[in-house]
Amino acid sequence: MNETLKRILENCRRYTLNGHVADYIPELAKANREEIGIFVATAEGDYCAGDWDKPFTIQSIVKPIFLMLAAIDNGIDFVKDHVGVEATGKPFNAIDYAEPLLLKEHINPMVNIGAIAVCGLVKASSNEERFRRLLDFTKKITGNPLLEIDKEVYESEKKTGNKNRALAYLLKNSGMIYGSVEELLDVYFAMCSVKVTCKDLANMGLLLANRGVDLCGERIIPREDAVFLNAVLTTSGMYDGSGEFATTVGIPAKSGVGGGIMADCPGRMGIGIYSPGLDKKGNSVAGIKMLEKLSEELELSIF
Ligand code: GLU
Repeated sequence: MNETLKRILENCRRYTLNGHVADYIPELAKANREEIGIFVATAEGDYCAGDWDKPFTIQSIVKPIFLMLAAIDNGIDFVKDHVGVEATGKPFNAIDYAEPLLLKEHINPMVNIGAIAVCGLVKASSNEERFRRLLDFTKKITGNPLLEIDKEVYESEKKTGNKNRALAYLLKNSGMIYGSVEELLDVYFAMCSVKVTCKDLANMGLLLANRGVDLCGERIIPREDAVFLNAVLTTSGMYDGSGEFATTVGIPAKSGVGGGIMADCPGRMGIGIYSPGLDKKGNSVAGIKMLEKLSEELELSIF
């Protein structure tokens, strides 16, 4: 398997130059678009190639983490009373939700507006506690107790994240955020800035692939929440490129503008990808290519 990953990675390396690093968060513009890594975690062992141990910020791959913890805390029905699950077909940071009142079925937890709303559903008596619980949960599902935030990226997004601020105030105006908007945004920005590697993402994927049970047999996520999450990832995890991704790769996955992709093949494996050159939708160009090849060779598609 290591040989397969190495060969796929080398074949896809040229695609890194077709992408562009995200620069709307100034600190992310410092990434090197030529970096590329992959990690596959299975019950039988781990496999990797390239820059799999290079840390980068999790960005939108934190959205499934918000959704998981919100579902664990409140139950899926409660969460679905607050956000919808239909793919929006809009860019991740779309702001054209021009309704007198936002309609919950129009906001999806895998785009920014829905993710900010879902972040606020994580139970806590303060936003410090909300952040602490989310970070601890992220450590648990990645199996990495050393995770921390990248302060520069966090400060950079906090300073420039006015579109997210606008989305959050829109939510507040519609009664979909209860407490302080700025404090909740702080949790959102901090959690988007958690530094991970391909290995962390692959471990998170493996947990979802095993429907919430870790390799020691401990149930970390209720089975129905893992199944729910995989369904949401399949329909809307790859931004407004999710339909195309379903046809070419065919597994649940979530991408982030830091260049990461977390994917899982139910019953088989978790996959972590890093390559920060993005396409226009915000997905890693070389990352998607690697997943296409891997899916083809190992027949991963769930369809
Ligand atoms: N922190 C980023 C933002 O809110 C996450 C976006 C993403 O990775 O899609 O804009």
